[in-house]
Amino acid sequence: MNILNTLFFVAVVGILADATLGASWSYGDISAWATNYATCATQQQSPIDIVHDDAIVDTTLGDFTHALFDAPPQTMTIKNPGYTVQIDLTGGYTIDDPSLLPGVFKAAQFHLHWGNSSSAGSEHLFNGNQYWGELHIVHYNTKYPDLGTAANESDGLAVLGFFITKDYPQDNTAVQRMIQPLTEDRVNYNSESESYTTTFSMETFLPNNISVYYRYQGSLTTPPCYESVMWTVFSEPIRISTAQANIFETRIFSADRGTSNPDLVNNNYRPAQPLNGRTVFRSTQCSGTGSFSMPTFHFVALCATVIGLIIVR
Ligand SMILES: [Zn+2]
Repeated sequence: MNILNTLFFVAVVGILADATLGASWSYGDISAWATNYATCATQQQSPIDIVHDDAIVDTTLGDFTHALFDAPPQTMTIKNPGYTVQIDLTGGYTIDDPSLLPGVFKAAQFHLHWGNSSSAGSEHLFNGNQYWGELHIVHYNTKYPDLGTAANESDGLAVLGFFITKDYPQDNTAVQRMIQPLTEDRVNYNSESESYTTTFSMETFLPNNISVYYRYQGSLTTPPCYESVMWTVFSEPIRISTAQANIFETRIFSADRGTSNPDLVNNNYRPAQPLNGRTVFRSTQCSGTGSFSMPTFHFVALCATVIGLIIVR
């Protein structure tokens, strides 16, 4: 039996539960999403393939700094909604800088998308390449009362996306702390959740360089696919160990605990969607002066490394 065909038939119990109660969707049948959620077939959908050479430099875009992410939230709760691992925040940090985001945006949750041992699972592509995984920090515009209200507003959400590689030679300390409830088998099945006794800041997750990024207008990548998201996708990935990736690949299930032969949650990504004339912007001029014999993929990474050396943290 093809596991992809059986995966992820889940009731939507996430941030948009009120709007979608009773509906279901599946990563095994993505082409059917638009049947129940018409917005999934509209023109500004996410994710996309971010092509560096096609992105337009926007000199008004500022630098994200690590200090923005320093403040730990009041509470953090990890949960398994059957299709991802999500950490809900209360008292999350806010970003209040018009050069970064058009409004005051508050962090409400983060979650991940990932592949398995033999295939990659990021949502966005970068120059056609798919990474092993992707972390999304979801923020809502504080002109609205909460995430659920903002989710269907055109200026409602801002998501920061970070690619994830599983090539780090040691465990990523922040990720290890985050996945402890998973390594100890407490939130590995559908509907399970647990609050952390000690909260930790998002800053601990971030790669060194967060000033090279891409920006475009898009959507939620799961039903109901609302076109309410200003996307920011960073060039430098978060790196975790193979052992940590293995926890995601093999120990998280879409079924309730006690179910026999439960299906795994992995390859929980939506494929790249058409740009349909949208412009992708980028934050820096950091390109074009090095060897063009290098693949752009590597060149941008080098460029980011150079910036990282200049900006001493
Ligand atoms: Zn996501």
